[in-house]
Amino acid sequence: MRIYTHPACLWHDTGPEHAERPERLRSVIDALIAAFPELDWREAPRASRGQLLRAHAPDLLQAVLETNPRERMLLDPDTVLSPASAEAALRAAGAGVAAVDAVLGDTTTRAFCAVRPPGHHATHDVAMGFCLFNSIAVAALHALDAHGLERVAVVDFDVHHGNGTQAIFERDPRVLYASSHQWPLYPDSGARSETGVGNIFNAPLPPETDGARFRAAWSGSLLPAIDAFRPQLLLVSAGFDAHRRDPLAELRLEAGDFGWIARELVQLANRHCRGRIVSMLEGGYDLEALAESSVAHVRELLA
Ligand SMILES: [Zn+2]
Repeated sequence: MRIYTHPACLWHDTGPEHAERPERLRSVIDALIAAFPELDWREAPRASRGQLLRAHAPDLLQAVLETNPRERMLLDPDTVLSPASAEAALRAAGAGVAAVDAVLGDTTTRAFCAVRPPGHHATHDVAMGFCLFNSIAVAALHALDAHGLERVAVVDFDVHHGNGTQAIFERDPRVLYASSHQWPLYPDSGARSETGVGNIFNAPLPPETDGARFRAAWSGSLLPAIDAFRPQLLLVSAGFDAHRRDPLAELRLEAGDFGWIARELVQLANRHCRGRIVSMLEGGYDLEALAESSVAHVRELLA
């Protein structure tokens, strides 16, 4: 089990009032170090231009990498570009690529990328919703195009729908995208009727949904769909903002529910892909809930 991170992910400076702040990642890293002294920590490399261009338009690369702002500026009302953001975004995407290389190269079976900014709202050509590059999409396309895999599943239990990931893959039958998310909530996509080319599976959950109903949604529809797809690699958009303490949403999950879904995903990966899972941090905005939930997540990946 490897953990990929980079100090630059702490330098992405969203400003004093922003929910997606460096302290989030600091709390995840501190909690993982305290809970699991034996983890194998690796410095994330930068994603290359070619790796990013598999998922993104040249204009988006230019906006993120070549604006070189001297102070914070907004790419959209929620999405900040600071002087260090380009480096953070390159390292976050590069973490996923390196983790895919390690897992598919049989160097390790599972990897968790403790990175920010998050990625799943970024589309082919738009940075939005705190996300600059769609790191999980870059990782999936690396597994397909560089390693020659034919079927990759992207599992997303962040409380927000991963509109960017869905948009990038909704016409690509090599990728299955399965998401549970609060609805209605930002970004207002993720209806059950959005099915792509039969490769998109959405489970919108009403506000106040608790762990039991969350587990039922995964057991009833999403996990069986992934099982039937027989993925060769499982990628996880691990957002912990469906926790009951999270300030940005109204679901009522506990850390144990994040442990449960991780356990289910490990069993699924053991059935289909020799246990291979790459998980990447997405959202989670209550520091205590985020720390507890990421520990519960990594504990199951270690099993
Ligand atoms: Zn989220």
